[in-house]
Amino acid sequence: MATLRFKALEDVVHRKPVQFNYVETKTSDYFGINVFNRNKMQQYLSAEAFEMVEQASIKGTRVDRKLANQVALGMKAWAIEKGATHYTHWFHPLNGSTAEKHDAFFEPTEDGGAIENFSGTLLVQQEPDASSFPSGGIRNTFEARGYTAWDPSSPAFILDNTLCIPTIFVSYTGEALDFKTPLLKSNVALDIAAQSVCQFFSKDITKVIATLGWEQEYFLIDEALFNARPDLMLTGRTLMGHSASKDQQLEDHYFGAIPERVTAYMKDFEKEALKLGIPVKTRHNEVAPNQFECAPVFEEANLAVDHNMLLMSIMNKTARKHNFKVLFHEKPFAGINGSGKHNNWSMQTNTGVNLLSPGKNPKSNLRFLTFVINTLKAVHEHSDLLRASILTYGNTHRLGANEAPPAIVSVFLGSHINKMIDKIEKSVSDKSMTPDEKAALKLDIGKIPEILLDNTDRNRTSPFAFTGNRFEFRAVGSSANCASPMITLNTIMANQLNEFYKEVNEIIDSGVKKDEAIFRVLRKYIKSSRKVVFEGNGYSKEWIEEAAKRGLSNVTSVPESLKAFISKKSIDLMERNHVLSKRELDARYEIRLNVFQKKIQIESRVIGDLAINHIIPTAIKYQNVLVENVRGMRDLLNTGEFNRQAGLQLETLKEISGHISSIKEKVDAMVLARKNVNVIEDIIDLATAYNNEVLPYIESIRYHIDRLELIVDDEIWPLPKYRELLFVS
Ligand code: ADP
Ligand code: MG
Repeated sequence: MATLRFKALEDVVHRKPVQFNYVETKTSDYFGINVFNRNKMQQYLSAEAFEMVEQASIKGTRVDRKLANQVALGMKAWAIEKGATHYTHWFHPLNGSTAEKHDAFFEPTEDGGAIENFSGTLLVQQEPDASSFPSGGIRNTFEARGYTAWDPSSPAFILDNTLCIPTIFVSYTGEALDFKTPLLKSNVALDIAAQSVCQFFSKDITKVIATLGWEQEYFLIDEALFNARPDLMLTGRTLMGHSASKDQQLEDHYFGAIPERVTAYMKDFEKEALKLGIPVKTRHNEVAPNQFECAPVFEEANLAVDHNMLLMSIMNKTARKHNFKVLFHEKPFAGINGSGKHNNWSMQTNTGVNLLSPGKNPKSNLRFLTFVINTLKAVHEHSDLLRASILTYGNTHRLGANEAPPAIVSVFLGSHINKMIDKIEKSVSDKSMTPDEKAALKLDIGKIPEILLDNTDRNRTSPFAFTGNRFEFRAVGSSANCASPMITLNTIMANQLNEFYKEVNEIIDSGVKKDEAIFRVLRKYIKSSRKVVFEGNGYSKEWIEEAAKRGLSNVTSVPESLKAFISKKSIDLMERNHVLSKRELDARYEIRLNVFQKKIQIESRVIGDLAINHIIPTAIKYQNVLVENVRGMRDLLNTGEFNRQAGLQLETLKEISGHISSIKEKVDAMVLARKNVNVIEDIIDLATAYNNEVLPYIESIRYHIDRLELIVDDEIWPLPKYRELLFVS
């Protein structure tokens, strides 16, 4: 009987690209047609209701109930015209996905008919029965109520006949149970802090937003092959599989021609994304075979986060139509590149200025340097929290491997900025500057080119790199909700800018001129944060040694790294900036530990099962073939000839037996280790025990399985091999 592997391979061979009716219309003809955006609001809402949503969205002002009714009516009218039958509050619970609970618009009437109903109350707040989302102990079962509340700053949209309303998700007692709540709060904190600092440079800035442009990496695998790999299905990554003889050595996939079948898929999901107002713009191959990337134009951070979550779910759905499976796991395949999600981050004012972009004159360049150097200081002070915000079990397989930045948080600035900060460090002191010194420094600052993009050396090995007009946080994992790193970045920056504002004003109060006061504080920051700047190869061994000498932390263990969530420093930071409370941080810490432990537990079970019921039986089958063969030889040959000729077979037999017994021993030991640690009640100890005592078996069992894959007859090997998963398309 053909194994699943061979059936799947046959399916793939006969697979034709799905015909996607791609009518080449202008994108502008359909961009945002499924979004209740400003244009549509103007059309469907009274001027008063429109204004209310605008204010609520920009200033975060309260939603008036009466007007909310009007908004609900307008939204409903638009949605029903577009064929929507249901509505849902759409939110980001802490399990890392998005959640929705669909309700029909229609309601039965007393006379036996039905009307389409949707009121302001239903728009503004709901109480989904969402008691099984992780809450990290915040909600006890007897008080499992959680509320979703409308986020007017992210427009409603229609997905598969359902009107989706982006919402926050909080507990009955007001604690955040999602990613959006603290993200919105961190946006406010950053807005206020950055506005104050902007006043040093111009008085007309009344709003600062965080901007985010993410780059989503992913793998595509044929669905049939995926279904023949229980490890991929259950854990999102391959737990075994010998590398293909050729993978990414020739780097011939990167920026190469995209296969027809993949292009059809990309066009299809991009079109859906564009209809939902997600400004996807770039698509290309990535370094590893079957790996790709998709990136939009940057947007306001909250909207960008929603759009990323939405895009991931559209990509999943569309893949099914094309008989693909899309993998968002950070490291689905050992030995080749994993997937990240670079977060390009900056700040933009209501006057249209990008605060991380150099300007036309010394004044705007001083503002630019102020924001760059404050970012440097913020990252230096809170690198542990920044790391904790992106370190997940999946991401550990990628970070520090030879393709992604290590778990050492460093900042790349490029030669221009480095020269500039050198100058500031050297030419400024606490003594008053002479007019000549001042003029010279201003002249230097004026020389920063307006467009750094082309001049910035591109260092791809840095986890946090300045790339001309933004910082690019590259350590984020491909499956992450970008809100997590954004919350941290916004908050550490807000905190830093507040400190800067205070320090500069103190110096001004002592009689020093504003520009000079700014220079003095910047110089102090450069001095104290310099050690986090690294311009060399972040993938090299030398850097790990060098970083240790500089006293930079390099934590690769998840349970260890997550401690940064509950350090006194982080709690103070988050509470001071009104982003997260201690209780909320505790909860997040617990949830992350829990997920970490569960993931290892699942992987350990999956590899144990596969080893025992797929791999060992297959190896024994082949062993028997060899045994028969040897027996036959012994019957036919005399002892001398037999000894000479059966050597290879006997050697192979011994090798196979060795691997089989090692696998069996290790699986038994792993099961025992799980049993032993499962009695631990404390989640910190449990997660640590899984990390130290269970995890190592997964790798070592894999080693023997991968050796067997090389020896055992290909005809009977049950699981699709790397060369098939990665090259068949
Ligand atoms: P690369 O691969 O060279 O890093 P991409 O074009 O793939 O470049 O991605 C760059 C991302 O950075 C895009 O999403 C882009 O919109 C975003 N970006 C550009 N300027 C800003 C900014 N000021 N703030 C945030 N993101 C930005
Ligand atoms: Mg990039």
